[in-house]
Parts: sequence; C-alpha cells; structure tokens
Amino acid sequence: MKKYILAIDAGTTSSRAIIFDQKGTTQAIAQHEFTQHFPQKGWVEHDASEIWETQHKAINEAIAKAGITPQQLHAIGITNQRETTVIWDRESGQPVGPAIVWQDRRTANLCETLTAAQKAPVFYAKTGLVLDAYFSGTKIKWILDNNPALKPLAKVGKLAFGTIDSWLVWKLTQGKHHVTDATNASRTLLFNIHTQQWDKELMDLLEVPAQLLPQVVDSSELIGHTDSELLGAEIPISGIAGDQQAALFGQLCLSPGSVKNTYGTGCFCIMNTGDTPVVSKNKMLTTIAYRLNGKVTYAIEGSVFVAGALIQWLRDQLQMIEKAPDIEELALTEKDSGGLTFIPALSGLGAPYWNPHATGALMGISRGNSKGHIARAALEAIALRSRDIILAMQKDAGTPFETLKVDGGASTNNLLMQLQADLLNTTVIRPQTTETTALGAAFLAGLATGYWASIDELKALWQEDRIFSPQENEQTEQVIKNWEARMAKI
Ligand code: ADP
Repeated sequence: MKKYILAIDAGTTSSRAIIFDQKGTTQAIAQHEFTQHFPQKGWVEHDASEIWETQHKAINEAIAKAGITPQQLHAIGITNQRETTVIWDRESGQPVGPAIVWQDRRTANLCETLTAAQKAPVFYAKTGLVLDAYFSGTKIKWILDNNPALKPLAKVGKLAFGTIDSWLVWKLTQGKHHVTDATNASRTLLFNIHTQQWDKELMDLLEVPAQLLPQVVDSSELIGHTDSELLGAEIPISGIAGDQQAALFGQLCLSPGSVKNTYGTGCFCIMNTGDTPVVSKNKMLTTIAYRLNGKVTYAIEGSVFVAGALIQWLRDQLQMIEKAPDIEELALTEKDSGGLTFIPALSGLGAPYWNPHATGALMGISRGNSKGHIARAALEAIALRSRDIILAMQKDAGTPFETLKVDGGASTNNLLMQLQADLLNTTVIRPQTTETTALGAAFLAGLATGYWASIDELKALWQEDRIFSPQENEQTEQVIKNWEARMAKI
C-alpha cells in the first residue's frame, strides 16, 4: 500500500491540507477560508471552532482528491500561523472566547507599561523577542483579565492555552494531547529559549499560571495519534513548526548561515544560526528554528512590512498595471531604473531603521523618467529592503552566507530575483515546490516516523526550479549608493 504524508497548513486566512508522496511531490491540496473578525480598531479575531471545522473539511477533501484512504497516511505534520492565541475549557473542549490573532494590537498599552517598568530586557534576554503585542503572552493575560470567571479556572488547571498547533492537536486527538512544539513556544514571551522551559519569572510578570500551558515537544517527534472516529484511522501526528520555521525547514536551510526569504505582502527572512542564539543589535528576533531529538537549532528573523504590497499599491492606487505579475514586463521596458530610488516606507520602516513615522518617497526624478523606470525602481526597492535585513542579520550572526533560498508569490518574478542576486552579490535559488511551508511540516513529520530515513534523504528530494547568479553590472553599485544616500535622508 503506497503511503503519503498529510501536511496541515493552518494559515491566517485559510485552512489548508496538502498530501505529499515520498518524492516530496504534491498529490492533492484542499483549502477553506475562514472568517476574519475586526470587532474594534486594531483588533483581529478568529473563531477557533471555525478554524477546526474548515481544517477538518480540508483534510477530508484532500484525502478524497488524492484518491487515497486515511490508512495510507503515514503521518501528519502541522504548520500554523504563529502567536495566535486560543484558550479553551479542557472538559467541554470549547474555546472560552475568540482567538486573538497575531496581528491584533489590543495589548500594545500593556507592552508599553511593561517596557516603562524596564521589563523589555528581561523578556529579550530569555525569549529573544521584543516586547510587542504581536506575541502570545500579553494576549493570554488580556483574555484572563477581561473575564473574571476565567482566572480561578485557569489556576486549577481547568483551562488550556495554545497556539493554533496546540488547538489542532487537541482536536485531532479528541483532547488526549495538550502540546506545542519548541518553535511555537518560542513565540509566546513565556518560553526561555536557552533553558527550553516555561519561565517562572515571565509567567509571573504576565500572570499566566503554569497549569494553563502545553507540554513543549520537539518539532519532529511522535506526539500521538488521531482519534480513529475522526478520520477513520489512527494516524501518527509527528511534526509541528510555526509557518516561517516550517518554510526554513522545507527549504532545507539546515546549516548555520543558510537563509530563506519569503516574498509575499511583506518579506519574512530567517537565517539559521546553528546552536548559537544570536543577540541582534538591530532589534531582530532570536527564535528557535527547530528542535530535533532535544537539540535546538536557533535562527534570527527579520521582516520587511511592505514588499509585494508596493506592487499592489502601483496596481490598485496608481493603476499602473492590471495584475501584479505585469510589473515584470513593464520594468523590462527599461534597462535600468533611470536614477530613481523608491523608498517603500508605506507603513513606516522596520529593521534595521525602526522608524514607524517614515513615509514612502520616489526620489531622483528627472524629465526622462518613465513608468518602466518606476516599475524597475519598485522591484529594486523590494530587493534593497531585503538586502538591508540580510546584511544586518549577517553582521549580527557573524556568519557569512553563500546562497539565498526564496519562496512566496513575488518570488516568481524573474527580474526581481535577478536584481536580488545582483544587489546581494549572492546566488539566489528558487525551488520547484512553491509549497515550502507545508513541505517543511511534511518533512518534520516524515522524519519522525521513518517515512524518510534522514535529512540526507530529504536533500536528494529537494529540487531547484532556477538559480539566479549575480551578474557584473555597473548599475548595481550606483543603485546601492543612491539607496544608502537617500535612505539616510528619510
Ligand atoms: P501573502 O502570502 O502575503 O498573501 P503571496 O505569497 O500570495 O502573499 O504573494 C502575493 C504578493 O506578491 C502580493 O503583494 C503581490 O502584489 C505580489 N506579487 C505576486 N506576483 C508578483 C510578481 N510576479 N511580481 C511582483 N510581485 C508579485
């Protein structure tokens, strides 16, 4: 009987299920969107029950589409939107309220209060995270503070906290396992990434009782089995990683200095730093890349807020193009950006500038400039912002890197990838599989159950689509010079 791996990709807007075979080839994909709730300015909520229902539906559909039986699933791997916080009642299995999504800013004031009380360095030293509303810890506190009935229940162990991975494992095993993996734990502000323990001091600061927290497992280990009534078979659940970490694993960035950059709405860049938790001088995050057989591999993470969003702006606000991919053809009407620099600070500037008040600009305009120049400058801007982050990471980590692996919607743009290779003077590698996040979860699950024997076996499966080698080009240096001089004025 041919066996497969099911990857559950629990994203921010949709629940997806993807079935891979032993060659790492996608056999079937099913996907269901779920509702985004915006009850107040800055608040973003999900209904955890809807997440579970859409996920369950997607799993059944993917199995049917692949034309296989549930018994043919060797294992399940889970990857998930990170930091989103659910608290549920252990007895009824029902959430006590809406899930608070990673994008939600309602705890920004609480973070400011803790920062004013000089607590940010304590959190950073232990968790590698900046004290921000993004992470789970303050969201847990908010839920407990805002419903007086919950605190006593939490203290006596009647409630469970989890990120979406924990919640899905709980549902898949009908409440037998309350776990999270080390990568997801590392995004809570409660987990000490050096000792690999929930941290008493941080729990006290956020008033989170130990009884609420899941057991932390490796990213690749047999956790338990799905309840037989649910999918019609007891399938091992054996891999979990947060989405960015799963993509790093799916890209096989497994040695120190290897980097992946995801080009979507924003850019998410992660560099493997091996067994060293790097302390950043640029407010980048230190995080867990994965934990295998109890051994932790660390990573440094930085993001660019506006990347593909800049192309959306040119499309929707300026109507310069009809579809995002048209930007490439337009940019190719010119051989350079005609001295333009596009400052893509449409919602402030993140690392390494950290200027929330910065606004966008188009600089260096002269009479000869065309739409093609603007299109090209926009693509350069995405590559230049990524370059800023990658160079800062390299400096922080003290680890040079040789190649950059890429994924995400905008990585299909060949010109953008070539500009990235030139501007970084680095080889850029785009894989054949665009589902690198799901593939990473599948790899983690399959390694634990012997579906794949070793990481070396995975390396033999990984196939590139295209390599972009840096090309000698007089313009490159000028583009960088202009960028550096003009960014300094922002
Ligand atoms: P997300 O996961 O953040 O929704 P995707 O990975 O689906 O993002 O990528 C979509 C983003 O990439 C959009 O912002 C879009 O403008 C941009 N994009 C898509 N295709 C291209 C392309 N060929 N060239 C440049 N940008 C693109």
